[in-house]
Formats: sequence, structure tokens, C-alpha cells
Amino acid sequence: MSLLDHLNTKLAALSAQSLRRSLRRADTGTAPRQTVDGRPLLMFCSNDYLGLAAEPAIAKALAEGARRWGGGSGASPLVSGHSAAHEAVADTLARWYAPHIPEARAIGFCTGYMANLAVVTALGDEHAEIFSEQLNHASLIDAARLSKARVTRYGHADVAGLRALLAASTARVKLIVTDAVFSMDGDLAPLPELLALAEAFDAWLIVDDAHGFGVLGATGRGSLEHFGLSSERLILVGTLGKAAGLAGAFVAAHTTIVDYLLQSARNFIFSTASPPAIEHALLTSFALIEGPLGAARRANLRARQTQLRDGLLALIDHHPRLGWSLTDAATPIQPLVVGGNAEVMALAAALEAAGLRVPGIRPPTVAPGTARLRITLCGTHTEADVDALLDALQRAAAAQERAA
Ligand SMILES: *Cc1c(COP(=O)(O)O)cnc(C)c1O
Repeated sequence: MSLLDHLNTKLAALSAQSLRRSLRRADTGTAPRQTVDGRPLLMFCSNDYLGLAAEPAIAKALAEGARRWGGGSGASPLVSGHSAAHEAVADTLARWYAPHIPEARAIGFCTGYMANLAVVTALGDEHAEIFSEQLNHASLIDAARLSKARVTRYGHADVAGLRALLAASTARVKLIVTDAVFSMDGDLAPLPELLALAEAFDAWLIVDDAHGFGVLGATGRGSLEHFGLSSERLILVGTLGKAAGLAGAFVAAHTTIVDYLLQSARNFIFSTASPPAIEHALLTSFALIEGPLGAARRANLRARQTQLRDGLLALIDHHPRLGWSLTDAATPIQPLVVGGNAEVMALAAALEAAGLRVPGIRPPTVAPGTARLRITLCGTHTEADVDALLDALQRAAAAQERAA
């Protein structure tokens, strides 16, 4: 069989299970109202939680950064790609996390996928055992697979199960690895309990705060601020393409850990540093996150979260036969679990016909039978926007119930 025949067979199997994915084309920038494939839509799908991607101050800072620094960084960080702008970003982040991580230092990456790959493969050597939460992001799963460490999975939020695994481990280095906010469920990891286990069993806690950074905590520093955690055992990964509205990622940890990453993380050493103009603009993004605009967007987010969750609970109550449910979401990620792949795609299509875009999420991203609409809110969504979504869902639910 030729390769093309082989691939076409596999693609046809995906189509038959309603699992075929395709790209959509945005014709305008990231914002709650965006033109997609030529059509204006009200969007509930980006991770731009504070609406900073559309903030004029960010575009201005990018332009200013480009005027000052030009285009790309030209080389990997250890060769000549590390600029004063990169350093200012790392210094700001080190200052942000100093109250949470003694002797904190930060190191930058082009994406969160890369940051996770770096920290998990560099620390997960042949002496290590990685304790990996069941619902971890794909980048953490891939990183654990690529590491030389033994990998042990623990159940979702299963603190007792993890305790037993740690107690039984004889590994010299123990790494607990978890998302802070689970990206397809919107719930929070029990970080205080996980940190207590790390302290009790001489383990280290790697926290991926992709969806907490900018969103959680009084000044937007994320899950460590939200829970008020402080320990040298905390190793924080934050991403800058979501609430920060730009691109990039960082690891903040004890200075010795960051120095070791610099020596040994292959995807840091052998990959071109991010464009300095982006780093320059990140400084503006950080100022917005910790300033009054960030605080106002976070307050609006919490109000919209409550409005949406209350509305969805009422909807589920009115249509019990559809079998829809909510997760324990406590963040701007508020999934509506529908069940079947075809059902969720039909629901997403009905919403889109009504002018709203909410992505349907199917296996393998989520467990079979738990396909869902992944509704994400933005700090610039209005009360009327959320009402429009709830109205459209109400009509779609009534139609699905009639059809059933
Ligand atoms: C998005 C995401 C990442 C990857 O970050 P990128 O900067 O998009 O590569 C890592 N972890 C989690 C939990 C994410 O949601």
C-alpha cells in the first residue's frame, strides 16, 4: 500500500468517528467579536482571558519593540539571541515569584510546549520518578515520555493515591507534575495538598499554570498567588500566549534549577530565542496584568463566570433528558459536557449557525463519551454576550430534545 493510501484510510476512519479536524481561518484579530472564514462571530474559544491580544497598548509596544530591535533574535539564547528585553522579562518574573519561591529566577522559552519539554526532560533524568496527573496537558505527557525518568500516573486530584505512590517510591528524585488549571475541565489542582506531599516525601512540584497566569490571584500572578503558596520545591511554568496576549513561556524556580536548565535543556540550548520585540511588548503586558486594567478584567471575568455557570445549571435542569453536565470549573474555562462526538459537533454547528463559535472537544483530547463544548470567557465579554450564548444554547437544547 502506498503511504497516501495508508493515510487516506486513517483519515477516513477519523471522519467516520466524527473525529476529523480542520483549520478555520480568522480574518480579523483575536477578540470576542471576530470574523472567521468571512463571517462575523461571537467567540467563546480563545485563551486570551484578559482580552490583551486586542489591547492597543500591546500593539503599540510591539511596534515600538520592532523599531528598536528589528526582527528575529538571530540565534539561540546562549549564542547571541538573549537580549536586554529578554533579560528584563526574566527579571520581572523573578521579582513576581520571589514571594512564592525563595531565590527565584526565571528563564524564557518560545512556547509553553517548549518550556514543559525543557523542565520535565532536564529534571527527569535516570534517577527520577515522575508522578504525572491523569488529566495533564499533552505537552507534559509528551515531555514525560521523552524523559529518562520512570513515569507513574496518578488519578485526577487523587491526593491519597499520590501519597501512597510517593511513599512506595525509592527514586532519588521525585517530581510531581500537574496542570494548575485543567485545560479541558477548568477545575483547579489541589496545589496546597500536593505541595504538602512534596514537603513530606522530599519531592518537587512542577506546576503548569498556562491557564492561571494573569487570571488567578489578586495581581494576576496565577495559582501560586491564588493559593498563597511559598516553597523552594515549587517549579512554575507559565505561558505568555494566553492571558498575557502575546507569545512565549517561562520557568520560574530556585536559581539552581534554572541554572541547570540553562546548561542541560536541549530545546532551550538548540532553539532560536524569541524575537526581542515580543519580549519588549511582554513588559507592557505584565504592567497591564498587575495594574487597574488587569484587575477590572479579572473582576468582569468572575462576574461572567457566575452568570454563565448559573445559566448553564438552569439549562441542564430544564433539559435533564439530554444528559448534559458541568465540570467543577472554577475558572474562565466552563465546559458543557455533552457526551457523544456527533452530538457535540451538531451542537457546535447549531451555535455557529446562530453566529456563535464554541469549539466541540472530542477524544483523544478528552475521555471517550465525555465530548464537550469548551466555553472560554474573556475579560472583555459583556453580560449581553453571555446572555446571547445562553439563549442560543437554550434553543439548541430544545431542538435536540425534539429530535431525540
Ligand atoms: C496551552 C498550554 C500549554 C502550551 O503552551 P503554548 O505556549 O501554547 O505552547 C501548556 N500547558 C497547558 C496546560 C496549556 O493549556
